[in-house]
Amino acid sequence: MAQDVTESLSRARAAQPAFAALPLSARVRALRPLASRILSRADEIAAVVREETGKPETEARLAEVLPNADLVEHWLAEAPRLFEAEELALDPLAYPSKGAVVERVARGVVALITPWNFPVAIPLRTLVPALLAGNAVVWKPSEVTPRSGALVASLFDGLLPHGALSLVQGAGDVGALLVDGDVDLVVFTGSVRTGKRIAVACAERLVACSLELGGKDAAIVLADADVERAANGVAWGALTNAGQNCASIERVYVESAVAEAFTKRVTELVSGLRFGVDFGPLTTDAQAELVRSHLADARTSGAEVLAEAPLPPEAGPRAVAPTVLRVTDEATPLMRDETIGPVLPIVVVANEGAAVERANASRFGLTASIWSKHLGKAEQLARRLRVGVVTINNHGFSAAVPSLPWTGTGETGTGITNSPHALAELTRPRVVLTDASRARRELWWYPYTPALEAIARAMAKVRGGAGPLGRVAAVFALIGAFVKRLSGG
Ligand code: ADP
Repeated sequence: MAQDVTESLSRARAAQPAFAALPLSARVRALRPLASRILSRADEIAAVVREETGKPETEARLAEVLPNADLVEHWLAEAPRLFEAEELALDPLAYPSKGAVVERVARGVVALITPWNFPVAIPLRTLVPALLAGNAVVWKPSEVTPRSGALVASLFDGLLPHGALSLVQGAGDVGALLVDGDVDLVVFTGSVRTGKRIAVACAERLVACSLELGGKDAAIVLADADVERAANGVAWGALTNAGQNCASIERVYVESAVAEAFTKRVTELVSGLRFGVDFGPLTTDAQAELVRSHLADARTSGAEVLAEAPLPPEAGPRAVAPTVLRVTDEATPLMRDETIGPVLPIVVVANEGAAVERANASRFGLTASIWSKHLGKAEQLARRLRVGVVTINNHGFSAAVPSLPWTGTGETGTGITNSPHALAELTRPRVVLTDASRARRELWWYPYTPALEAIARAMAKVRGGAGPLGRVAAVFALIGAFVKRLSGG
């Protein structure tokens, strides 16, 4: 395994310069078949993802197939504009005869480490723009979803030069080897615990890293919400993918005026969810255990279970019933730590101010949603939330919209996927300056003389460092000093 990592990294290092030197159009052409490959293998993707993660096939198709085709098409269409070099003219007085070009260039070799909850969509979100940019990528999928990983890698078969994309399989030890290897950037999606370790390892070697870690998303249901839409949207936002989504709704703050109507509708909806159709078992034993312990702690601290979806006998030991609770003690782990499970805890609050305050009282800050018929008011409130994405009257769906940045605050990490903002991580700016001046020397070059010193002093005054009279005097001083400097002083 260690050998796999080392070999993949040296193949990547060897391949990367020539891959990056290809014209962008060649990389765009190379990746062109990807969208149709994803769509034509939709059944296979849905089946493998269902087998490995437990998610219902409908969810696999909606979250792991269709948005990925959009993602590829988006980046291929936008790449020529986004990667275009920018020519900048410099101020001709201060910098005569000089010009600059700012280019976006690949970071080099990227280590990509991904989790099991969206084993197709999450890696593709980085792979597509990273490769288009001319990076070579060595990717380690989660050890929980190796077949999904192999399937995604096979979508690229025959499209890329040898070494531009390598798959390494294995658990955390393999991930750690990759992070410690010859890489220029680590892109990681996963737990806070692992993210912090990776951040430390990268900091020690000054390797760039992009971390997308957890979430504890809040939904704020205001008194003027459309109750039917809010209940449907919150139930989906909390429970889709059995809640195993970093942007799951894990806390609901509902204004007291609408609390009863909203809670009643949510409990009806959740009671009617069907195992195997609307939700599946959790993906790992560890996750099922964590969710059960959060539920048990919450009940001990007074939370009241309002609804549970029925679990058939065949549901198996990893199944956890989607559960609605009314919570009063917000110190319980269910309200503070990441649950990543099918739980919808409701807290009744007096007003919107209390809802915002509680929503912000989290170590995480990925997304949040506000449910209200008054869009203007909701937008004002949105700007008070300390998160990366706020959705009004919807939740979390924009992870599937490739033109919108997906990012967060606090322990969510500062990684950015999707949108041109993601390129700030996957590429670096390179500046090439040209100077066509024929002068023997620049004003600021040696020798440092009294005339140069006088110019520097006068400049500061002329540019605002003195009052109006002082400025006039400085203009004369500046002219005098310039003449001296030009004549060799
Ligand atoms: P989860 O198991 O909840 O997905 P992890 O953060 O443990 O969260 O795992 C996410 C990804 O990180 C997986 O691919 C896993 O193998 C990998 N990983 C785990 N530990 C490390 C580590 N120390 N260094 C690098 N990668 C790791």
